[in-house]
Amino acid sequence: METNESYKDYMVRATAASDQIRAFAVTSRNLVETARKAHNTSPIATAALGRLMSGTLMMGSMMENEKDLITVKIDGDGPLGGVLATANNKGQVKGYVNNGYVILPPNASGHLNVGGGIGKGTFTVIRDMGMKDPYVGQVPLYTGEIAEDFTYYFAQSQQTPSSVGLGVLMNHENTVREAGGFIVQLMPFADDAVISHLEDNLKKFTTVTDVLREGKSPEEMLEIVLDGFDIKWNGTMPVEWHCNCSKDRVARGLKLLGHKELDDIINDGKPIETKCHFCGKTYSFDIDELKSLLS
Ligand code: ZN
Repeated sequence: METNESYKDYMVRATAASDQIRAFAVTSRNLVETARKAHNTSPIATAALGRLMSGTLMMGSMMENEKDLITVKIDGDGPLGGVLATANNKGQVKGYVNNGYVILPPNASGHLNVGGGIGKGTFTVIRDMGMKDPYVGQVPLYTGEIAEDFTYYFAQSQQTPSSVGLGVLMNHENTVREAGGFIVQLMPFADDAVISHLEDNLKKFTTVTDVLREGKSPEEMLEIVLDGFDIKWNGTMPVEWHCNCSKDRVARGLKLLGHKELDDIINDGKPIETKCHFCGKTYSFDIDELKSLLS
């Protein structure tokens, strides 16, 4: 099976129809495969995480401040439990699935049943701008298939008509073959002719997974969605999996446990190991290190 190890993950941004449309597309195969390895996720969990990370990356690139962080958190009553991804506007993303080992039969159309794995629940966007209170927006899950949930969020919470397509294509041995997606948004001043032409294009568009299977690039994906419009390309940006965890950060987390809890751990007399949720890296703290956290 052909893999795209040599390809770089990247995102492309464009506008079309004299800025009445803005568009983003991403190819994210390598970073989704890195996440799969870090978490040892099942195919359905990889698909859920890969879709969410791809969408969150594109949303992250919409932020102007490079210190801002965007987190998209899906909580569902299905067996996957939940999925979370965090991105900045520099193309860096990380994420995890609550129950990453879940395996489910395919859905009626023979595809990975991400919607069934997630179930009913909420789609929450947390935008941390370095101030005391982050911005939080929440909508109910629409289908749990993730792309439709982004679309619904943009419509409900930001009043921005959008179309979002996300896909992850797996190899038979459960590695990631392709991953990516697009976001297309109509600006408030878009005229009716532009809207109906875009709608026609979207009706003709099959699925991101099909387009990825054909080996199409992000640019080619947008050329299909924006067929017949003048496209203005606004540059590409590399995207990557990136976890910024460190022993210091984990130590700060342990301090938050409070005096009593830490005292109890120290009195147990055993060193502890704690794992980063995002990348699975473990950090160990011996008794002396734990004691120093108390002072
Ligand atoms: Zn980490």
